[in-house]
Amino acid sequence: MIVFCQSKEIHSKALKLLPEQGTCSLFVSVQGIVQGVGFRPFVYRCALKHALKGEVSNNAQGVEIKISGTRESLLSFILELQNSPPPLSVIREARLESMDYTDYSDFRIKESEKGNAYQIDITPDIATCQACLHEMNDKNDYRYQYPFINCTDCGPRYSIIQDLPYDRKMTTMQHFELCPQCSKEYHDPGNRRFHAQPVACPECGPHLELLDFAGKIVVGATSQNAIQKACELIQRGNILAIKGLGGFHLACRADLDSIIRSLRQRKKRDEKPFAIMVKDVSVAEKIAFFSPQEKAILQSMAKPIVLVQKKRNVSAISELVAPKLPSLGIMLPYTPLHHLLFDTGYFDALVMTSANVSDEPMIYQNTECLKALQGIADFFLVHNREIQNRIDDSLVRVVSERPVFLRRARGYTPESLPSPIPMQGVVACGGVLKSTVAIGREQRCYVSPYIGKMENLETYHSLEQTTSQLLHLLKVKPALFACDLHPGSLSSQFAQVQSKATSLPIEYIQHHHAHAASCMAENNFPADQNALCVVYDGTGYGEDGSIWGGEIFLASYREYKRVAHLSPIPLPGGDMAIKNPWRIAMGMLYSLGYQDTKEIFSQIDAREQDAVWDLLRANVSCPLASSMGRLFDAISAILGINTRMQYEGQPAMELESLASEEEQGFYSYSILQKKESPLLLEGTNILEKVLQERQQKIPVPVISARFHNTIAQATQEMVCQMARSYNISQVFLSGGCFQNALLLQKTISLLEKENLRVYTHRILSPNDEGISYGQAVIAAARRQSR
Ligand SMILES: [Zn+2]
Ligand SMILES: [Zn+2]
Ligand SMILES: [Zn+2]
Repeated sequence: MIVFCQSKEIHSKALKLLPEQGTCSLFVSVQGIVQGVGFRPFVYRCALKHALKGEVSNNAQGVEIKISGTRESLLSFILELQNSPPPLSVIREARLESMDYTDYSDFRIKESEKGNAYQIDITPDIATCQACLHEMNDKNDYRYQYPFINCTDCGPRYSIIQDLPYDRKMTTMQHFELCPQCSKEYHDPGNRRFHAQPVACPECGPHLELLDFAGKIVVGATSQNAIQKACELIQRGNILAIKGLGGFHLACRADLDSIIRSLRQRKKRDEKPFAIMVKDVSVAEKIAFFSPQEKAILQSMAKPIVLVQKKRNVSAISELVAPKLPSLGIMLPYTPLHHLLFDTGYFDALVMTSANVSDEPMIYQNTECLKALQGIADFFLVHNREIQNRIDDSLVRVVSERPVFLRRARGYTPESLPSPIPMQGVVACGGVLKSTVAIGREQRCYVSPYIGKMENLETYHSLEQTTSQLLHLLKVKPALFACDLHPGSLSSQFAQVQSKATSLPIEYIQHHHAHAASCMAENNFPADQNALCVVYDGTGYGEDGSIWGGEIFLASYREYKRVAHLSPIPLPGGDMAIKNPWRIAMGMLYSLGYQDTKEIFSQIDAREQDAVWDLLRANVSCPLASSMGRLFDAISAILGINTRMQYEGQPAMELESLASEEEQGFYSYSILQKKESPLLLEGTNILEKVLQERQQKIPVPVISARFHNTIAQATQEMVCQMARSYNISQVFLSGGCFQNALLLQKTISLLEKENLRVYTHRILSPNDEGISYGQAVIAAARRQSR
């Protein structure tokens, strides 16, 4: 008899399957993330513990186990398999089959057969485990203070994989021949390092080098004292490029304004916040406030950057690290090298920012690093374990006790997501701002880490490289390309080039429909049903050629109907307006009939203002946008909070950060309804209310809160009306604006009060990182319906 089961029901199904008495044999096959995570040695140890005999091996789907013994011991074995599998593994499903009794002589791990098409997931990179840290700090250990210590429970994975099946020969560790000691551990099924592919020691593994700006080894620096020397240099005020797991960081002291200022100058990054790495949790708690959930995420295996509320007047962290913001991105050390940096005792916190040039992808190769970071880094702490796949740090914040990803990368990707529709061969090329690529294999979708802003050639090449690498690893042959509706975007051009070269079709997908579908699919919403989707976003190309971004859709995976949106507002000067949000506010005032704004924008040069008036009056270069993100920017500008944007999302982030938590009031607003047309929310009237209150000298935190409340309230009204018209009770929230904790919280609570079921992103980010996944699901749905 064969039984299929979910991970949590393996034991209960086995209870029913196994004969009541005597000895028996069982076949167990598990699927999910079960290869390259120490699963077979775990099974081996477990079998020995329960006096069972048989064998375990990897197969094309995952791991299979043939096992004989008494009913009682088999059940104990199954219970352990179900409840405490290796920390990095994820059992997605299992198959149990009763077998004729086989009398095995022992329990053994069978070598995997060569040449199989391996259908397995790729494991993400994982922070150093406690057992390895313990060894690293033990003077008598073989790997005392070794910066590349790892085991089957921790260390690099995705970042070093060149091909599957995951085996040392298929990783960048292939150049390091195992010494007798490492080889013994690697081949011993009872050892923690059994088949730990990146296993290494000072004798046989990678080593460090400390280089100056000319690429020469710093005088007196050896691989043994490189960390000590590097930390001395940091302490003295230098900026160092340090090679990590998935790329280079720029590291420097976090406490001195002068150093942060010089890092900002060299990186040409005026105000965008830097992340910091701190020695341990106790240091983190001295710097910022952590809820239990934030603390748990900070310490989790993935060790992402967690965005938390900073404490005031902490001398250890310069104000310039995250200027004008109440929050701070903090992470813990996640490689042995990071731990060793802090062990020198020179500092408790470091600025650790991805080493790149403005919006280009993170730098990850030694040669590239020396060239690209000339004039930015003073010294380079490098090593000779090559990074095959670049991957940035992940960034998470917690809203209403739910984690919201602002960047999903190291420690999480490439993890596969479910798909309601078979999607073999779909290659989705993503959006413009935070680009990712998604590849469909059977009924799962593999989303790449964050690639970058698709605006320059560097990022285009990175998209090319990531796509071909992922296709290669997954052994997927493209069958269909999906990309954005905007013909001019670089990711669409990429899809067109690919499609031309392969004669494969392209599916063009509207940006906000992709947002909606990504939220629906990650929440397992079924195919062929409709839901209401609120997509509040920056900008995306609309079906009518204008810019959209304040949208409510009635959507399935295949199609959507625009049922409500924000009234379009002019963006005088296009991109110039996005960078200078006072222009957006001015465009809105113009549509309200204002003739002069010199008093309102007293800080902005009068000639600059006149030039914008000219554009508005002539209606030249004033594209229309129904974008919620742009409305937030305009409000931030008219309150004088932020008139010139330094980095994406800055005006809205600063507006949110000032909002009073107690204020419950909101402004009256108008929703226009014409027959057969979508509902229209008037943003300009709301802006005028904000302006009036500013002129009445109402405190900014009160106005900001009232504005957030107004948008949530208006959203509730529009959604409720549509929910009644279409008899729908499920609502999905997506788009970059829902990274705003206040807006997300208020909207969820108002909608839930109306007995609607509200779904948000839990796996992917609500921002454009999720676009590729949404595109893939939509393309698959359309292909299926043809
Ligand atoms: Zn370990
Ligand atoms: Zn060794
Ligand atoms: Zn978007």
